[in-house]
Amino acid sequence: MSTTAGIRIAVHPVKSRVPAAERARRLENPGFGQIFSEHMVSLRWNAKEGWHDAQLTAYAPISLDPGTSFLHYAQGVFEGLKAFRQVDGSIAIFRPEAHAARFRRSARRLALPELPEDVFVEALELLVRHDHEWVPSGPEQSFYLRPFMFATDIGLGVHAGTEVTCLFIASPSGSYFTHGVKPVSVWLSTEYTRAAPGGTGDAKFGGNYAGSLIAQAQAQREGCDTVVWLDAAEHAWVEEMGGMNLAFVFGSGDRARVVTPALTGTLLPGITRDSLLRLAVDLGYGAEERRVSVEEWRKGNADGTVTEAFACGTAAVITPVGEVKSSSGGWTIGGGKPGPVAMRLRKALVDIQRGAAPDPYGWRHPVALS
Ligand SMILES: *Cc1c(COP(=O)(O)O)cnc(C)c1O
Repeated sequence: MSTTAGIRIAVHPVKSRVPAAERARRLENPGFGQIFSEHMVSLRWNAKEGWHDAQLTAYAPISLDPGTSFLHYAQGVFEGLKAFRQVDGSIAIFRPEAHAARFRRSARRLALPELPEDVFVEALELLVRHDHEWVPSGPEQSFYLRPFMFATDIGLGVHAGTEVTCLFIASPSGSYFTHGVKPVSVWLSTEYTRAAPGGTGDAKFGGNYAGSLIAQAQAQREGCDTVVWLDAAEHAWVEEMGGMNLAFVFGSGDRARVVTPALTGTLLPGITRDSLLRLAVDLGYGAEERRVSVEEWRKGNADGTVTEAFACGTAAVITPVGEVKSSSGGWTIGGGKPGPVAMRLRKALVDIQRGAAPDPYGWRHPVALS
C-alpha cells in the first residue's frame, strides 16, 4: 500500500512473472510503443468520492460498455514521458513533475478532473519499481511511460464525464531511429491545420492526433516524412512538426541563437522544448521564443542566416529537418545533414537524462527500487 495526498494506491502484483529468458527475448528489439511491461496503475474518479479505487495490478485488457462516452465523444487526455536506466545502473524518471502539471492543464481544458501531481508521480514510481526489470539499458533505449485519462459515463448524451478512469502503462522502447539520427523531409500543410485559437492545440488530447492523420498521409504522398503545421488564420507562421515542437538555429558557432515558435495557445508546450531552451543558454547560445514565418525560414535558409532546423519531443528527443517542401516550392537545409547545434543540444539533454552529466535543474527523479 502506498499513500499520498490521502489517496492510497493498493498494490496487487502479478503472482507469476514473465520468465527472464522470455523478457530478454521481448526486450531484444522492442521498437517504439510496441511491447508493454507487466503492471499498470489505475484510478477512478467521480464527483462524490473524488479519486478512489487506486491500484497497481497486472497489465490487462479493460472492458468497456459500447455506450461509454469516451468511445463516442473523445473526452480524454494523455501524457508521455520516460524513465531511463542511469549509467550507474539505477533508474530515474525525467521531469515527472512537469508532466504532472501539464496533465492537469490538459485535463482542465477537456473538462476532466485534475489528478494531484504527487499522485501522478507516485503512480509512475510504483510502476517503475514493480517493472524495473523491463527498463532497458542500451543506448537510446528507455522505459516510455504513458498516463491517460478518459470519461467512462455510459450514455450518448454529450456532457462532461461524471465517471473517469485514469491509467498508467509503460512500454520498454528502443531507439526511435534505427540507423542513427537521420534528418527528415517535411511538407508545409496549407490545406489542413492542427489547431486554432481557442481550440485544444495546447492540450495533450488524442483528438488533435486523429485530426492530423490525413495531413500526415498527404505529406507522405508528397514524398515527405511528416507534416509541418502552420497557423490556422494566415498559414504564414510555423507552429509544430507532426507531434513535436520545432526550433531554428540562426547563425553558427558561438554566435548561434536557438529560436522556437512562441506558445500562442495553439502549440503544445513541450517539456523537451523547455529543457532545450535552458540547455541552449548553458551551452552559450542565445535562446528566443517568438513567432517565425515560413517566409523568414525560406529567406533565412537562402541567405544563410537560418543554419539549422530541428523538431523536439520526448519520443525522438531531437529530429533534424533536412528538406522542406510545399505547394509553392521547397529548399534543403545543411545539405540534408544533422546540424552541429542540434546534435550538441541532443547530447547535452541525453547525458542529463542518463545520469552521464550533472543535473543542475533537478530534472532527474530517482526511483528507489526497494
Ligand atoms: C507531446 C507533444 C509535443 C512534445 O512534448 P514533450 O513534452 O517534449 O514530449 C509536441 N507537440 C505535440 C503536439 C505533442 O503532443
